[in-house]
Amino acid sequence: MQTRVDIVLSPAQAADAAAVRMAAAQAAGLPLDAVTAVRQHRRSIDARGRSVRVRIVADVYAGEQEPARPSAVQRLRSANPARRVIIVGAGPAGYFAALRLLEHGATPIVLDRGKDVRARRRDLRAIQQFGIVDEHSNYCFGEGGAGTYSDGKLYTRSHKRGSIENVLQLLVDHGATDDILVDSHPHIGSNKLWLVVQRIRETILAHGGEVRFDAWVTDLLIHHDRVRGVVVHGTEELLADAVVLATGHSARDVMRMCVRQGVAIESKPFALGVRIEHPQPLIDSIQYHTSVRDPHLPASSYKLVCQANGKGVFSFCMCPGGIIVPASTSPGELVVNGMSMSRRDSPYANSGTVVTVDESDWASYAKHGPLAAMEYQGAVEVAAFNSVADASQRAPAQRLTDYVAGRVSASLPGTSYIPKLASVDLRSVLPAPVDRRLRQAIGEFGRMMRGYLTEEAVVVATESRTSSPVRIPRDRDTYEHLGIAGLYPCGEGAGYAGGIVSAALDGQNVASAIAVANGWT
Ligand SMILES: Cc1cc2nc3c(=O)[nH]c(=O)nc-3n(C[C@H](O)[C@H](O)[C@H](O)COP(=O)(O)OP(=O)(O)OC[C@H]3O[C@@H](n4cnc5c(N)ncnc54)[C@H](O)[C@@H]3O)c2cc1C
Repeated sequence: MQTRVDIVLSPAQAADAAAVRMAAAQAAGLPLDAVTAVRQHRRSIDARGRSVRVRIVADVYAGEQEPARPSAVQRLRSANPARRVIIVGAGPAGYFAALRLLEHGATPIVLDRGKDVRARRRDLRAIQQFGIVDEHSNYCFGEGGAGTYSDGKLYTRSHKRGSIENVLQLLVDHGATDDILVDSHPHIGSNKLWLVVQRIRETILAHGGEVRFDAWVTDLLIHHDRVRGVVVHGTEELLADAVVLATGHSARDVMRMCVRQGVAIESKPFALGVRIEHPQPLIDSIQYHTSVRDPHLPASSYKLVCQANGKGVFSFCMCPGGIIVPASTSPGELVVNGMSMSRRDSPYANSGTVVTVDESDWASYAKHGPLAAMEYQGAVEVAAFNSVADASQRAPAQRLTDYVAGRVSASLPGTSYIPKLASVDLRSVLPAPVDRRLRQAIGEFGRMMRGYLTEEAVVVATESRTSSPVRIPRDRDTYEHLGIAGLYPCGEGAGYAGGIVSAALDGQNVASAIAVANGWT
């Protein structure tokens, strides 16, 4: 017999398996010794009241064992070498497309400009410690894509795009903890993600797929409006039945390649702003209404949104207990983002705070045609880099209160950002309409969340890669490019995803569409 129950516990009880079992048995109306298993189905933290509670939905089993969760890897087949699909990009979109193609017995050939997930770490250290940015290996490029050295948040609103459970199960099959199947806001953490990514590669290889690093795709092979393959490093030609373009939001060379080769591409609205960092204990005290966080509770987060001058301003990619990282992909630009470890135990909390920008913002870049938004985005990143004198990845920053008041900061608070901060008037970096909206919104956020607007917090520029400035148009049903047959724009860079899970779902959908188009189903 199986009964689904709702229970509400203190954080300490929720962390104690015996206490959960007892509460679940009671809620099911069963004596404790009749219960054979309790499986948590959903778990969320309710911090609305004065004392924080944990809400658990659980399945209680009596007289039977809980059924095993079927592994999603079981569905994969051996790759047929006659069915070749080139996937450009080994990010979540590319790797999940490869796994789905293996379900159809096709051979995924994954090409990535960067290094494998381990070798990549050395280049991340070079950015952090010496400000040296390798254009092929950085926080955005390399195995696992932008999703690897991240917070690994897996929350998404893309429920209609496919089975989120299947994506999460595949991550669990490759080493993620099964808590991600239960938590309402699951996350993996950067210290664990790399291993998951490496194991996904091993699965692809074990089934006959190919994965190549240091394989920078410089051209598409197009003949009579059909893609035949790709060119690697300007010389090596590789042929395939279909090509998936899953190159992420930072591959500006790929966006330029599209224009050069007559592949339709267009500017689209994207998010631009700053990253704001607070001491984590301050956020905990606001969110959990207590001076010291209960040790059974995770570092707390927030989500803020308001309208400023008719446009939405919102917090994004909150990293509780995380660090700010330099996410630039070329020398001479400055981009920041956030990541955290599985324990989320850094003393800082950061989040992107961004404004949606549209063609009214990049009107003066119209001469760049479909890449106007991308060039506008790049110009802000160059302005951020040039605002600090020493040509490093030191980032321009202001105390939050000084930023709102329009004052240059006399000093800056402590930060998690390893390349260090420099006091700069951010009005010299951000476009005026973006700056005005941010300042207005931050004042509003301070009213919404008492304690948020504090001189202990710091504003760091620029957060400019939360979404892609382009869309590569494709058919809604077949996912094929509108213009070039056999070409499949995919994931965040093509404008169809905004995070790890949505990129993975898009990769799966594109791969299924390729299987249908080629009769491999
Ligand atoms: C620091 C950071 C933290 C983040 N945190 C989170 C988070 O916690 N949760 C979340 O959901 N999202 C997060 N994101 C966003 C998330 O990582 C992306 O939305 C997601 O990775 C997009 O997946 P993708 O596969 O479409 O593209 P990407 O992950 O960007 O992968 C694209 C791949 O293509 C390769 N490539 C590019 N050009 C070429 C070329 N010409 N030839 C060959 N290969 C090429 C790149 O090397 C890269 O590996 C974070 C991003 C960053 C930068």
